[in-house]
Amino acid sequence: MCRAATTAAALVALAPHAALAQRTVVPQSLSADSATRAALASRYPRDRSDTLPAFPLRELAPGVYAVLGDTGRGVEGRPNAGFVITSAGVVVIDALASPGEGRVLMRTIHTVTRTPVRYLVLTHHHPDHTFGAIVLKRAGARIIAHPDRRTLANIDGDDRLASDWTGVMGLQQMRGFAYADAPDIAVRHDTLLDVGGRRIEIIRPGAAHTAGDLMVWLPAERVLFAGDVLVEDGVSMMVDGSSTAMLGALARIDSLDPRVAVPGHGRLAAKPATLVARTRCYVLALRDTMRRAVADGVRMGQSLDRLPPADRDRPVSLHSRLRRNAVRVYSEMEQMLLGAPPSKEALAAEAGQLAACPR
Ligand SMILES: [Zn+2]
Repeated sequence: MCRAATTAAALVALAPHAALAQRTVVPQSLSADSATRAALASRYPRDRSDTLPAFPLRELAPGVYAVLGDTGRGVEGRPNAGFVITSAGVVVIDALASPGEGRVLMRTIHTVTRTPVRYLVLTHHHPDHTFGAIVLKRAGARIIAHPDRRTLANIDGDDRLASDWTGVMGLQQMRGFAYADAPDIAVRHDTLLDVGGRRIEIIRPGAAHTAGDLMVWLPAERVLFAGDVLVEDGVSMMVDGSSTAMLGALARIDSLDPRVAVPGHGRLAAKPATLVARTRCYVLALRDTMRRAVADGVRMGQSLDRLPPADRDRPVSLHSRLRRNAVRVYSEMEQMLLGAPPSKEALAAEAGQLAACPR
């Protein structure tokens, strides 16, 4: 953080928002999830090439761009990224899934500006958002990220993940790879990045999608880069985070009232509040179902019976996400019941929110 002060940018810790003051549940340990690793192998088609001239762009506000990933593929497709042009350099949000994609990302930025890339903010540490980071780092970007890199995907170590991911992306895409997601500037709390006269808030939403979640908020433009807290179909993954923190993160997004919210994957919602509400309803319904199951002594296996089976070798297909989240939330509800049961008021508030959801 102090090194940042020697640059053109100023980083200032912001007062935590009220929504963050509530207790968030950070997993004490992340248990191995066999689906995660086995499944990396078919997540991406292998024929992706880094010979594309550029990715599609959408200007969200003057000098603020979304780099559009795949749509209609849930979280199995290429993620979204973004960048903000300032007079002191470009701030990039997320680095995509390989050095190959990172190279195309750089070419995409160069289609609208030759201003050097100064910072790369990572919304979390999953490989599909970070494995292109080395390209931006070599181009001079300093990495802004939460220091907690723990995910199920790297539970067997960085070498193993890099090897598995190379199997997914192919050698050509991974040419030049080195890890570059460890922060040069670690952000653990809401932090203001003031660069070239642009006010860019790095928001710490809690461990919602992963332990190392951050979001990027441009208050003047009311544009939010939400990372995988939001995904196009409203079924955000919580196996590396928690449903309690996810609800807190969604409340935080509501409090910002964004004009545009860029999800981690998929098309930009016409109304961000609608996608937030859809995501919240999904999380609330799952918590309600699993809380009742635990209270009634229904075993996890039985409580999963009504869900479609996870898709083999597709850890983040819709069916796999639904099932893996259900396992995660059942465990959370079980721990909550055994440890610190929620107050009647908290339960009533959640029930009230759920009652307002479409059935
Ligand atoms: Zn993702």
